[in-house]
Amino acid sequence: MNLSSLLRSVRKSLEAAGVPSPGVDADLLVSHGLKIPRSGLYLDPARELSPAEESLVMDLARERAKRLPLQYVTGECEFMSLTFKMKEGVFIPRPETEVLVDAMTERIEADSLKSHVMLDLCTGSGAIAVSLACHFKTGLVVASDISPLAVEIARENAILNGVNDIMRFVVGDGVGSLGSITRSDCEHGFDAITCNPPYVGSAEIDELDPEIRDHEPRIALDGGDTGLEFIESMLPRIASILTGRGIVGFEIGETQAVPVEAMFKNAGFEMTEVVKDLNGKDRVIIGRRA
Ligand code: GLN
Repeated sequence: MNLSSLLRSVRKSLEAAGVPSPGVDADLLVSHGLKIPRSGLYLDPARELSPAEESLVMDLARERAKRLPLQYVTGECEFMSLTFKMKEGVFIPRPETEVLVDAMTERIEADSLKSHVMLDLCTGSGAIAVSLACHFKTGLVVASDISPLAVEIARENAILNGVNDIMRFVVGDGVGSLGSITRSDCEHGFDAITCNPPYVGSAEIDELDPEIRDHEPRIALDGGDTGLEFIESMLPRIASILTGRGIVGFEIGETQAVPVEAMFKNAGFEMTEVVKDLNGKDRVIIGRRA
C-alpha cells in the first residue's frame, strides 16, 4: 500500500466510526505512526510502505475508531506550544485553558515580586503548572491532583520540559492536600493559585462526546449537581493559603461567571475579573482581595 492509499483508508475508517474530524485525525495518526511531519505527508504520495508500517498505522486507526481521544492514541498533546505526554486516565488539556495561563501570566508579571510561589490545583497532566514554570523559570510551582497517575504524568511532563527543578508534586484531593503543602513548601502562602476544576454538572456528562464521556477521567469533569460544588468548597481554603496580595484564577464553564463571582466575593476576593476565550465565552475568573 502507498502513503496516499493509507491516508485514504485511515480517513474512511474514522469516518465510518463517526469521528468528528476524520481527515485531520487521519493525517495526525499517519504522521505520528510513520514519524513524518504533517507538512510532509503529501510530498510523496506514491511512497510504498512496508507491511509493518501499514499495520502499525492501522492499529492506531482502530484505537481512534473506538473513539479513544487522539491524544490517548498518540500518547502526547500540545499545550501553550509545549509538548506534553498523555495517557488514558489523565485529563487532556483544552485550548481554552491557555486563556487561564495567559491571563495569569500577564497579571503575575505586572506585580512587583521577583519570584513567585505558585500552586496549581487539579493539575492533571501538569499543563498549567508546567507552562507557568516554563514561562517564569524561577520561583516554585507546586502541582497537585487527587489522581496518582495524573501526578506521575505531570512530573514526567515537568522533566520533559526541563522545569522539574522548580516544581513540587502532591497527590491529594485539593482541600485535604493543601495543609501538607503549606507546611512543607511555603509557610508564607502562595502568590498565585490556578485551577481548572471539575465544573461540568453530573447529569451533563452523559451528553458529552463519547471521547470525553467514555474515556476521560470523570473526576476531572464532574462538579456535582450544579457543576459548582468543587469550586465552592475550594475557595475558602484557597483564601486561607493565598498571600495578602495573591491572585487566584479558575477556569469556569461559559454560563458560570455570575454564580462563581458571587462565590469569589463570599470567600473574600472582592476584586474579580472575567476573561473570555477565543469564542467570546466567559472562561476564566481571576480574583484578588480588595
Ligand atoms: N472544558 C471541559 C470540557 O471539555 C470541562 C473541563 C472541566 O470540567 N474542567 O468539557
